[in-house]
Amino acid sequence: MTYHAGRHFLQIPGPTNVPDRVLRAMDYPTIDHRGPTFQRLGEEILSAIKAVFRTEGPVVIYPASGTGAWEAALVNTLSPGDRVLMFETGHFATLWQQMAERIGLRPEFLEGDWRSGADPERIEAVLAEDREHAIKAVAVVHNETSTGVTSRIADVRAAIDRAGHPALLLVDTISSLASIRYEHDAWGVDVTVAGSQKGLMLPPGLSFNAISEKALAASRKARCPRSYWAWDDMLGPNAKGFFPYTPATNLLYGLREALRMLEEEGLDNVFARHDRHAAATREAVRAWGLELLCRNEDEFSSSLTAVMMPEGHDADALRRVILEHFDMSLGAGLSKLAGRVFRIGHLGDFNDLTLAGTLAGVEMGMALNGTPHRAGGVNAAMASLVQAHGS
Ligand SMILES: *Cc1c(COP(=O)(O)O)cnc(C)c1O
Repeated sequence: MTYHAGRHFLQIPGPTNVPDRVLRAMDYPTIDHRGPTFQRLGEEILSAIKAVFRTEGPVVIYPASGTGAWEAALVNTLSPGDRVLMFETGHFATLWQQMAERIGLRPEFLEGDWRSGADPERIEAVLAEDREHAIKAVAVVHNETSTGVTSRIADVRAAIDRAGHPALLLVDTISSLASIRYEHDAWGVDVTVAGSQKGLMLPPGLSFNAISEKALAASRKARCPRSYWAWDDMLGPNAKGFFPYTPATNLLYGLREALRMLEEEGLDNVFARHDRHAAATREAVRAWGLELLCRNEDEFSSSLTAVMMPEGHDADALRRVILEHFDMSLGAGLSKLAGRVFRIGHLGDFNDLTLAGTLAGVEMGMALNGTPHRAGGVNAAMASLVQAHGS
């Protein structure tokens, strides 16, 4: 191994760069999770986390990756054989649908092109046909991390309401929470699923369910077997700041610090920062003469940008050159997009100069590996940032 001077650029769309403040906050002895010091920590984070989801309701925290919180959302609210309407936005929506099948639910998967978000009109049409209300939940990925497409959750909510359908709305915000505007209560979401290692700037290992009253009521009747994920086991001890089993204490120290940082910056400013970096990245891509994977302007993701490689060129070869020469990791194309796209993560602890460095790494990498492109992407991004600051 050779030493790489300077910081590695971890520009995959999760896990993201963990800020020093969060790293320092975790570097403390683990404490008794049944004692009074832990109780104060538990009470602080379980209360402060609500603001990030924009909810007044309970938020459950699991010592698990985001996949665990996906499972928790399904098994707490549904019963074996229940129909669930899901939308094929990309790789992550597909995995969630496969999980629903394995659990014994009956997902109905609306086909998508992996370049657009969940279509509210199609969801409305299916729900309007379902006069017996056999569909018990609609499950949508807010920000599809495999494609860089953000679905319009408020419009999905409106579609469910227009159909007059009582289905629960379950939303995966693993790569959008604390990066892209999101409103658990105002958008009438029943369960919001999130993870620690993306917008929340933490290492992997925590995940979340924000729970509406309607979802809580559904959980009392839901018959899917559950034990580790059971909300009621969590909510009892949570009311006093405790957990039913050993929590990931040191990650919770980190979470407390991350929540303080988000509060200091202000969520509106956090969202504006992500919007600014995403817009500048798209300017770079246009200047390079490359194509964005996302087809629709009102669905551009502010946490990552997926870029299509010119025909006949391998995205993974480009990513290798960039890693080797510039010590930067970019996101790979997943499943059917393998080799065809690379993904630039611009979420979490990230600023204008990190973006400039990231895009410079991409542009130099393309020059080195012979990817057909026009120079000038970094300049276009800089102009976009200057304009954003000036206005
Ligand atoms: C990262 C991600 C997941 C998977 O989360 P893990 O923490 O890897 O289990 C699921 N959905 C989306 C949208 C993601 O970005």
